[in-house]
Amino acid sequence: MNILVLNVGSATLKFQVVATDGERIAGDQDAKLLRGQIERIGGESVITIRHADGSTRTRTASLRDMRAAVDWLVDHITSPESGTGLTARADIHAVGHRVVHGGEQFRSSVLVDDTVLQGIEDNVELAPLHNPHNLRGIEATRKALGTGVPQVAVFDTAFHHTLPEHAYIYAIPYPLYRRHRIRRYGFHGTSHRSIAYRFRKITGRERGEVRIVTLHLGNGCSACGIRDGVSIDTSMGFTPLEGLVMGTRSGDIDAALLDYIAAKEGLSLSQVEAMLNSQSGLLGISGLTNDMRDLLAEANELNDRRARLAIDIFCYRARKYIGAYLAALGGAEAIVFAGGVGENSPQIRARICEGMEWAGLHVDGTANAALVDGREGRFSTDGSSLHAWVVPTDEELLIARDTYRVVSGVPLPG
Ligand code: ADP
Repeated sequence: MNILVLNVGSATLKFQVVATDGERIAGDQDAKLLRGQIERIGGESVITIRHADGSTRTRTASLRDMRAAVDWLVDHITSPESGTGLTARADIHAVGHRVVHGGEQFRSSVLVDDTVLQGIEDNVELAPLHNPHNLRGIEATRKALGTGVPQVAVFDTAFHHTLPEHAYIYAIPYPLYRRHRIRRYGFHGTSHRSIAYRFRKITGRERGEVRIVTLHLGNGCSACGIRDGVSIDTSMGFTPLEGLVMGTRSGDIDAALLDYIAAKEGLSLSQVEAMLNSQSGLLGISGLTNDMRDLLAEANELNDRRARLAIDIFCYRARKYIGAYLAALGGAEAIVFAGGVGENSPQIRARICEGMEWAGLHVDGTANAALVDGREGRFSTDGSSLHAWVVPTDEELLIARDTYRVVSGVPLPG
């Protein structure tokens, strides 16, 4: 089954074409035919395509809206130039969408129908920056491919539906939960699920045997405690702002600061919230960049004080969360790193794991240094009782597999 995986943002469309079927799922050999992204939709759009042979091509096209972008994409995918082998729109058998917020009602991936569309719409107030774009993507795809091509919604929040009440209820007046659905939802669920799935494949475990802390460290960052294969706590909350220090987000702060900053800086509360989301984190502390690669260069080569401070705070917060989740889980067998930073920076991984010998974690520096560029493996010593791993996340593959399962009626893993 050829599946088009879409991740729709305000002016961007990330995509991947994956050929997957039951046999391939069992054999772990799905074929990734094409991937890429369209940016600056609404004007002169920049299109980057990565072919299966590793070659990349960038071009521009004038795409006035999401509908035009999806149309361009399906035309390209089915053209000989794409190298996918697909020749007609009918060769695209199903579409899987990343949808950010599933609220409390969507606990797993679902086939999109009018009721599901309404459900995603009902969650717009919980994710006003994301769900409307996801809806537009589904609409545009429906128009481009027709209603006969099944579409599946895979929710970023769904993996965290197993959080116990004591982990998802905030210590604020309880009626706010009832009245306004205020609670921890957690995000990056598809990523944490993908990491946990791959970890158990590599280590030969059954789902129920996995007890790990996963760290998705990209531009957005989150931690997740996984026991018996399910999420029992996660660091992002009602929105993705809570928890770890991120590229431009503050993560945890004292809530009283909102009013204080607003008064001192003459800002509205929503301006302060925007500051915490887009001007804080690594960027805010360093005053330089949200990009960890550039920050490491500033710290290592120029010894920039605030770049060093930003990295210190980033690593310290991550370590604090590891400690918290080890306590919540009652110990774990491994800490698993993923995301652009987690998969590519031995230096940051080593800093985060520093001083964790008390918990039985001893880093093997040589093994750590070798784990870059998508390589997976363990970087703790054989004698460690708490291990450290790098397991690259593959959200698109998980979305493709869920889409296959939902469309074919194969039961989803719980
Ligand atoms: P997103 O959350 O947007 O999907 P990614 O998972 O791609 O982001 O991660 C982006 C982050 O990964 C950036 O901060 C980037 O600097 C960082 N990164 C990528 N490669 C390296 C590297 N070799 N060393 C340190 N950081 C890296």
